[in-house]
Amino acid sequence: MACILAVAEQRENKLKKIAYEVVSEGKRLAEKLGLEMKCALIGGSVAGLADEIAQYGAKDLLIAEGKEFERYSVMPYTAALSEIVKKTDAKIILLGATAMGKDLGARLAARLKAGLVNDCTGIEVDNDNVGASGRSPLLLHPMYGGKVWSYLKGAGQNPIVITLRPNVFSKGERPLAPTKAAIEKIDVKLSDTDLRAKVLELIMAAEGAVDLTEANIIVSGGRGMKAPENFKMLEELASALGAAVGASRAAVDAGWKPHSFQVGLTGRTVSPTLYVACGISGAIQHLAGMSSSRYIVAINKDPDAPIFKVADYGIVGDVFEVVPLLIEEIKKVRG
Ligand code: FAD
Repeated sequence: MACILAVAEQRENKLKKIAYEVVSEGKRLAEKLGLEMKCALIGGSVAGLADEIAQYGAKDLLIAEGKEFERYSVMPYTAALSEIVKKTDAKIILLGATAMGKDLGARLAARLKAGLVNDCTGIEVDNDNVGASGRSPLLLHPMYGGKVWSYLKGAGQNPIVITLRPNVFSKGERPLAPTKAAIEKIDVKLSDTDLRAKVLELIMAAEGAVDLTEANIIVSGGRGMKAPENFKMLEELASALGAAVGASRAAVDAGWKPHSFQVGLTGRTVSPTLYVACGISGAIQHLAGMSSSRYIVAINKDPDAPIFKVADYGIVGDVFEVVPLLIEEIKKVRG
């Protein structure tokens, strides 16, 4: 029977936050379409994660594990995932729109001759056009840097690969009674071509740093911060809020922050619950990376700055006066 396959992303044998979101949305979509949901887990030694992810609906788990999958590399992972798709006859394959998910999703779609919708921010069901194979999903997808939103759907009988924007789809409720996963281990035969690239080293972000794409709160600084040392103030605000720090391209181009901090069209796409923009004008390329944040707070001394058009709360003022006050008040509230 055709099914939905949710790919649970892990790193260093730990489930990423997006894994819960993808599996939870997979379960919701499977219920709406009347399909089964299965889950794929690929990694070095990941069977121990099975019962954890099963709590969110991934009861049927297909696992490819071994030394070759310890660190993500697109060729072996594509080989493993293609094998799992073949086994499950999956028609819809869901991954996170993370660096790994977008890389793997594109390669998988090419191999399966499947459709691909990247960075999907909403899924509805097309009840008006019910085909021989039942109803299909309608996929909400931002285009032209978020200026327009389009609905896309798969064409023909080929499978469709969908990557979901992190932090947009909610994690399901954990049931009171624990669920056990049914595990099927998949034997993947890797060719020399699959193994031609080897990951030699993984350089992790500094310990304690929150991953921008997974962060629930982000404090970002732009050219209005004036100098790199002034980001200390934003780091302090971020630490008071339990947030990650981001930056506009102007701040990155000036060498104040590395590119991994950049939010926007040519940086990271983020969707936190709270995005605090400090001294950022709100150019369309910046908005492309953060406008789907749930609440946007902007601090800018120019009342006509475009950022105020998308902000839920705007503070017209000097960041060097407003931010220290915010830090003080937040520290008071948080004790
Ligand atoms: P500015 O536009 O210079 O704005 C600084 C703001 O700070 C102003 O609004 C000013 O009023 C305010 N300010 C100054 N002093 C203070 C103060 N003391 N207190 C409060 N406010 C103050 N940009 C991105 O951010 N991300 C991208 O990924 C990205 N990709 C791009 C891709 C392309 C192809 C192109 C052409 C551009 C891209 N850009 C991107 C650049 C983008 O167009 C803007 O140039 C950039 O976002 C501006 O950054 P900024 O808002 O920090 O600086």
